[in-house]
Amino acid sequence: MKYLDEYRDSKLVHTLLDEINHSLTRPWVIMEICGGQTHSIMKHGLDQLLPEGIELVHGPGCPVCVTSQEMVDKALLIASQPGVIFTSYGDMLRVPGSTGDLFSIRASGKDVRVVYSSLDAVKIARENPDKQVVFFAIGFETTAPANAMSVLYAQRLGLSNFSLLVSQVRVPPAMHAILAAPGNRVQGFLAAGHVCTVMGYWEYVPIAHQYKLPVVVTGFEPVDILQGLLSAIRGLENQMYEVSNAYSRVVTYEGNQPAQKIINQVFAECDQKWRGMGNIPGSGWCLKPDFFQFNAEGKYQLSKVVSLESPLCISGKILQGLEKPLDCPAFARQCSPEHPLGATMVSAEGTCSAYYRYGRSK
Ligand code: SF4
Repeated sequence: MKYLDEYRDSKLVHTLLDEINHSLTRPWVIMEICGGQTHSIMKHGLDQLLPEGIELVHGPGCPVCVTSQEMVDKALLIASQPGVIFTSYGDMLRVPGSTGDLFSIRASGKDVRVVYSSLDAVKIARENPDKQVVFFAIGFETTAPANAMSVLYAQRLGLSNFSLLVSQVRVPPAMHAILAAPGNRVQGFLAAGHVCTVMGYWEYVPIAHQYKLPVVVTGFEPVDILQGLLSAIRGLENQMYEVSNAYSRVVTYEGNQPAQKIINQVFAECDQKWRGMGNIPGSGWCLKPDFFQFNAEGKYQLSKVVSLESPLCISGKILQGLEKPLDCPAFARQCSPEHPLGATMVSAEGTCSAYYRYGRSK
């Protein structure tokens, strides 16, 4: 398949592995930010093909995983209200809150629906004027443009029965938090190609300079990932602390400016709580005051939610690259995709799920 097969070419993979081997003079720890990259690394066995000196740690770039338990608990409360149709991406339905998950709310007879986009939720609101329709607007910079558009569309339609429960997160403040954390081991980043498709990579330049490390915009196929790693290793070996683009077939420095404009029209930067990582200043996008009527948190008075996470789960440390799934005593014992204790096992992009699915063991 064009644009896929050539990025899985085994000859090219081995050439890149040879180049990585030749470039390496000492060990380095590199974080791939995105859960999609983690899954690709595990699926294609890249972690097992790399030289011992390269340690990959897995970042927080899984939107389901980083949505705070408090936000999941708010979703459970809203979805339990009479007259509400609660809409969400499918992955969120199994994420455990303090008292259950959205599946259990649906099983109790409430109207919880899976949608593929926030615009589907607007359509449901148009078709059900006697119900309140709430969309669980989670995600990184990739989902923000469509979520912002749904608000503008609902406003244009004059809908008063549509709102968002917003948990939008931004990558650059999370990178700052990881690098500033005590015990940080990350020496270079593979930035998430799809996030950069929207945002470009200008936001990473001050991070590379401040923390003196390479950041490489990277795609998702084996050749993409090895090219990203090679570029990061060369940067580290030569002390060149820049942002480079190993995904130039998709990403530009400026990114998608019309999409950024829509985001900035609807959302303003705000502090955001990340699952396992706590509050990260400026790491979220919240609805601007002009769009208050579309804010589900305002409609449902949810400020007093108190959330409890499983004491066994170390996903917060995993999401910061401080631990790995095999360090968790519950991995493949109390916690599995059938009985997940934490979000990194629930989500299709979660690191624990990748280790489980692709058979990594001690
Ligand atoms: S294996 Fe389960 S309990 Fe352990 S960190 Fe992963 S999600 Fe949490």
